[in-house]
Amino acid sequence: MLIDLASSLIAYVAITLAFGEAASAGNLAIGVVAALSPDCDYAIYACVRNKFAVISHRFVHYPLAWLTGALAFGYLSGDWYRASLAAAGFAIHFVHDSYGWVGIQWLWPFMPKAYISFGRGGRGFQIMTPETRRSILHYRYGHELRQGFWDVFWGRLRDEFTNLGFTVEIYLILSFTVVCVFFLLYPPAS
Ligand SMILES: [Zn+2]
Repeated sequence: MLIDLASSLIAYVAITLAFGEAASAGNLAIGVVAALSPDCDYAIYACVRNKFAVISHRFVHYPLAWLTGALAFGYLSGDWYRASLAAAGFAIHFVHDSYGWVGIQWLWPFMPKAYISFGRGGRGFQIMTPETRRSILHYRYGHELRQGFWDVFWGRLRDEFTNLGFTVEIYLILSFTVVCVFFLLYPPAS
């Protein structure tokens, strides 16, 4: 989540410079919301987890659908600047997730059972079956089945904010600095 946030700030500045636009808090929000929104599937997980066991990065983690949506918006509206902000946010989220534990359905709806991971912990690029993925999920998140909704929610947030690591902290500070400097150099049109 924090890495998605930092990456979306950098992407916002790069895309806005490329399109020659002035800074705007609204457009910045498009990129940030796009980078964070695929994780809204947490709400679905919270509702169904007692019935279907551990579920993570599913239901709305369909990169082709989100990217096609952003491209369709650009095509229909002609607003390729905002379409690019949204597409970059989505791409950042899904590429980052692909380095996580459980892989992403990059080829959904064409190959819904292929969970693609770009590699973490030396596992390298791999395509997981739903069965392999399920066993990894149980290993990683199985304890959540015995916890209530808020314990799971705060536990996930705590995971996110503790043990960030020096590199991530520097990346966060750098990305916020880049955005602040950009807003100073190219202030919003009044
Ligand atoms: Zn995600």
